[in-house]
Amino acid sequence: MEEVEVAPPQAMEVRLKVLFTSLCHTDVYFWEAKGQTPLFPRIFGHEASGIVESVGEGVTDLKPGDHVLPVFTGECKECRHCKSEESNMCDLLRINTDRGVMLNDGKTRFSINGKPIYHFVGTSTFSEYTVVHVGCVAKINPEAPLDKVCVLSCGISTGLGATLNVAKPNKGSSVAVFGLGAVGLAAAEGARIAGASRIIGVDLNPKRFEEAKKFGVTEFVNPKDYDKPVQEVIAEMTNGGVDRSVECTGNINAMISAFECVHDGWGVAVLVGVPNKDDAFKTHPMNVLNERTLKGTFFGNYKPRTDLPSVVEKYMNKELEVEKFITHEVTFSEINKAFDYMLAGDGIRCIIRMDA
Ligand code: NAD
Ligand code: ZN
Repeated sequence: MEEVEVAPPQAMEVRLKVLFTSLCHTDVYFWEAKGQTPLFPRIFGHEASGIVESVGEGVTDLKPGDHVLPVFTGECKECRHCKSEESNMCDLLRINTDRGVMLNDGKTRFSINGKPIYHFVGTSTFSEYTVVHVGCVAKINPEAPLDKVCVLSCGISTGLGATLNVAKPNKGSSVAVFGLGAVGLAAAEGARIAGASRIIGVDLNPKRFEEAKKFGVTEFVNPKDYDKPVQEVIAEMTNGGVDRSVECTGNINAMISAFECVHDGWGVAVLVGVPNKDDAFKTHPMNVLNERTLKGTFFGNYKPRTDLPSVVEKYMNKELEVEKFITHEVTFSEINKAFDYMLAGDGIRCIIRMDA
């Protein structure tokens, strides 16, 4: 824990008081920094909720006191991606894990005794205050409980959108979900909402299976229980393959299995997990010629400012349950416990309460 100075917001920036943040696997991945040459020192954290404290020049659609969710990928509303109905890959503000500085002046807003501390994916929410580009902030219903909807700012919306917006299963179809962490369980929740009749959960950690029942997962496969590839196991269970699969592990072999386990002719696989730096996806081209589709998505194809408020509304009108994703809560000074829970595969999401 360090005292940092957080400079005021510049043009098109807002300073947020972070009230709740949670740990997503992406933070762990960049914290472990395996095979990476990371920017250092920097402040992690990107799944959070808070209140606007002050706004910089040119900010018209947010004001102090607004309840908001910061998002690791942004929406400038002006580029060809933001103007396209199909894309959320904003030219200006799409996820950038290397930048570490603000766009306005190429500098950081965090410092200790004048020494810069870098930003992480434009959010850096493991701080009581943070400065974020206005395009990475979704203004939400002020009635929404911030200690709950904080998990919608990354993991849950990502998994939910990967199924509802990208995989798009038909009613009565079969869906395989690889990885039953928060993102995968949210993908399963999306499959349940879409009316899928079989939801097959795949995970190496058997502890995940009991929890997954609450998310509509109907069958479980642990690849460790078989001496053949999991895609073959799933093909046998489903008379040739599932209609849709969503990969939420970040493991390259799971990504390949998730693609190869969809039915030929119509199957669609969606990759969500963040791969390691040197991973390469290898499959026989015949698997594609046989009319399988491979897709990928950041943030479930949701545009942060335009679409995220409506995901919060889904929670407010009880279409979407968020409480069941939250299994632990710690104070900010105990943040390392949140890392321990995730490394041990214990629970789903741990909320970090910043004011305690
Ligand atoms: P998590 O660690 O809570 O869950 C991952 C699960 O995958 C674990 O239960 C683990 O046991 C399981 N797993 C690992 N390897 C596996 C394998 N080979 N086969 C089957 N299961 C396996 O992580 P999370 O927070 O749910 O995030 C999941 C992934 O999604 C991460 O890679 C994260 O970086 C990524 N992510 C992507 C986006 C995006 O926009 N694309 C957004 C958020 C998170
Ligand atoms: Zn844009």
